[in-house]
Amino acid sequence: SLVFVAREVDPGEPRVAASPDTVKKMKALGLDVVIEAGAGLSSRIPDADYEKMGARIGTAADAKAADVVLKVRRPTDGEVTGYKSGAVVIAIMDPYGNEAAIETMAKAGLSSFAMELMPRITRAQSMDVLSSQANLAGYQAVIDAAAEYDRAMPMMMTAAGTVPAAKVFVMGAGVAGLQAIATARRLGAVVSATDVRPAAKEQVASLGAKFIAVEDEEFKAAETAAGYAKPMSAEYQAKQAALVADHIAKQDIVITTALIPGRPAPRLVSREMLKSMKPGSVAVDLAVERGGNIEGVVAGEVVDVEGVKVIGHANVAGRVAASASLLYAKNLVTFLETMISKETKDLALKLDDELIKATMLTHGGAVVHPNFGGSKE
Ligand code: NAD
Repeated sequence: SLVFVAREVDPGEPRVAASPDTVKKMKALGLDVVIEAGAGLSSRIPDADYEKMGARIGTAADAKAADVVLKVRRPTDGEVTGYKSGAVVIAIMDPYGNEAAIETMAKAGLSSFAMELMPRITRAQSMDVLSSQANLAGYQAVIDAAAEYDRAMPMMMTAAGTVPAAKVFVMGAGVAGLQAIATARRLGAVVSATDVRPAAKEQVASLGAKFIAVEDEEFKAAETAAGYAKPMSAEYQAKQAALVADHIAKQDIVITTALIPGRPAPRLVSREMLKSMKPGSVAVDLAVERGGNIEGVVAGEVVDVEGVKVIGHANVAGRVAASASLLYAKNLVTFLETMISKETKDLALKLDDELIKATMLTHGGAVVHPNFGGSKE
């Protein structure tokens, strides 16, 4: 079978869906690999590095012959017309609210898979793109905050006086939040964090940060079976806001990462809260692409809101593209391997596999995922 690795068409996407390492792996699985020329350049991977591992360098036209297309982002309608019917397409599909684009892939006869719908089970841990990318985003959020902050992060006791440590507050202690806590700690900040899932409490404490949350009955039941947060009631949100308002006024840097799958991000930081912070404070909103946790955040920009620098960079994992691509590519190839028959070395979709069921958006000309208008049975 032939695998085509596309060069991303979105100018805001520097990542790539294969690395030299994963090309080697695909060759070992018995696959032929074509890399679109220049696909890896923004991730610092020259074409020659792919060639050395046995890939052929091609053009967008090579997609037409491919049995498998690997991408970072969902293909545009234009890209879809360049794929053959029956091809497998694997990417971060951003399916919520994009039903028309899913329909387009169905009509084109593609078997499309959304990596972000991968179940969070042990077997699929090495295919978990949300984790691999969020981990880097959490790290980069602290680096971005430090770069905008006009003060030093660690406490410095010098002959000329003492610089106090920065106080960093992380809201949402999932994968990104925990990495943000760890990174801020490494830079010497005094770190606190909040979440609505009780499991987060111990994880935050184990990283040496203080946990702050409204720990009522609703909090005790806020984690879904899948490990995600539930949307909280208006009453809980009001209690949370009151607690957070007092705390934020004493912080120098706030990093927000709170998400609820398939919904707009919860609004956690108001203009009034920003106003209560010291001049020169910094806030980073990692949820900006889902509407944002911070009032006044602008996607792709650093804006001043009530005297606070509010950082709304989009695609934060892409800001560390060379690292992000290596992990993303590994996630993809591990999933692809489950689709390859060990005997024939050909593509053989196991439609009853739980990973396939959870991630397959379209197949056989139809939308098949139950969350997007399809029916599985
Ligand atoms: P996410 O990106 O969906 O959300 C980020 C965080 O925001 C979560 O911790 C969530 O609880 C929190 N949040 C939501 N609403 C909030 C609010 N109103 N106030 C404060 N915080 C709020 O989450 P994630 O990083 O993908 O992690 C979700 C869970 O999945 C975690 O428990 C994580 O440990 C778990 N996980 C499991 C596996 C695995 O088992 N393979 C892999 C990765 C993550």
